[in-house]
Parts: sequence; C-alpha cells; structure tokens
Amino acid sequence: MTSPGTGGSDARAQARASADAAATDGFELPGAPDAFERFWNAHRMAYVSKGTGQVKDEHTCPFCAAPQRDDEDSLIVHRGRTAYVVLNLYPYNPGHLLVCPYRHVPLYTDTTTEEAAEMAELTQTAMLALGQAAGASGYNLGMNQGAVAGAGIAAHLHQHVVPRWTGDGNFLPIIARTKNMSQTLGETRQILAGVWDRAARDHAARRAANARAAAEHPRPGAGDPA
Ligand SMILES: [Zn+2]
Repeated sequence: MTSPGTGGSDARAQARASADAAATDGFELPGAPDAFERFWNAHRMAYVSKGTGQVKDEHTCPFCAAPQRDDEDSLIVHRGRTAYVVLNLYPYNPGHLLVCPYRHVPLYTDTTTEEAAEMAELTQTAMLALGQAAGASGYNLGMNQGAVAGAGIAAHLHQHVVPRWTGDGNFLPIIARTKNMSQTLGETRQILAGVWDRAARDHAARRAANARAAAEHPRPGAGDPA
C-alpha cells in the first residue's frame, strides 16, 4: 500500500523485506512459516555462556570498567561520591537501573557506612527519576548476592531498581524468557540523566519532610535501658 508522500520509505521497507526474504530463502533450510514474531537475542546467550565466568577480579569486572568510560558509552546515568547509577545491559523492564559502589566488593556487608548510605540515597533518587521520566507506578528493589542467589556478576555488589507498570508482566518472559524493549538503552540513559537533578531535588525535599515526621514519631524499644 502506497500513500502520497511516503513512497520513499515504502520503497526502502520493500527493499529491506525482499533482501530479508532473499537471505532467508537462500539458505534453503527447513522451516514452517507461522504468525509469530521472533525476538532474536543471541547476545544474551553469549553473556550467559561466557560473560559471568569471565569476571575474575577488578580487571575483568564490567562494574569496575564502566566508570572509566564516558557516560554515553557505559550507560551511566549518574555518578555519586562512592557509588554510581548505570542502566542494566540486560533489563527486566525498560529503565532497569543498577546502583553500584565504585569499589569491587561482593557483599552488602562489605560496604562502608558512607557507601551504604549513598547506595540508599541513589536508589531513592533513581525511583523518583523513573517516576518522573517514565511514569513508573511500582518498583522492585533487590541485591542478589552470590551466584547461588542469582547474581549475574557476583564479585561486584549491585542493587537492582526495576520500574513496574500495570500489565508489564506479559506472557513473553514467562514462557519464552524474552523481554520486548520499546526504547534503546542510549535513549533511556539520556532521558534519565536529564531528569536526575530534578529527582535529586525532589528527594532532598522528601527527606526533609520525612525527617520532620520521624522526629515526632514515637520510637518504642529504642530508648536507653533504664
Ligand atoms: Zn568490580
């Protein structure tokens, strides 16, 4: 179907379609066409089969390497004093962020007071940024520690911040272990980095309001022993 003014893009689309058909038909491999779309993600298999086992120390660790590169290359959204925020290369949902200490430590119990406090602060700000940029209506937070607990890169602590929307858990991840992403990681990074300062101001205001509320709240059990 051709409409006035779109002839050029139609022609390009047809050229792509016929090139794809020639490439696939040319192999003369067995196959039965059906109505299903295919999401090809061979990079995921490369990551699963080789990626995690390659992280032996700081020198082979992607969470140590990322801050050495510029923000666009490494998908870093924000750099703090002791920790930073980066997009997950293998997101569960669009906007899936990781909060990582700069230091190569495997466990939450290895963080300093300052690192633990800043990871918490960055996690809260990340939630606000995802709310502002993408209208997230819920969040999953978590740290998988140790390969047995599901950590993809167990050697370097990272906190997941996963935005959630109503109806985002469709059949694909359940039956096909596949996620449909509607935005490139570079675009997502740019949007989140753009709203970060506003989210940080929002976070500071909320923290002050909660500090006032907490000061007035009773603390049963926290008093000095008589
Ligand atoms: Zn590391």
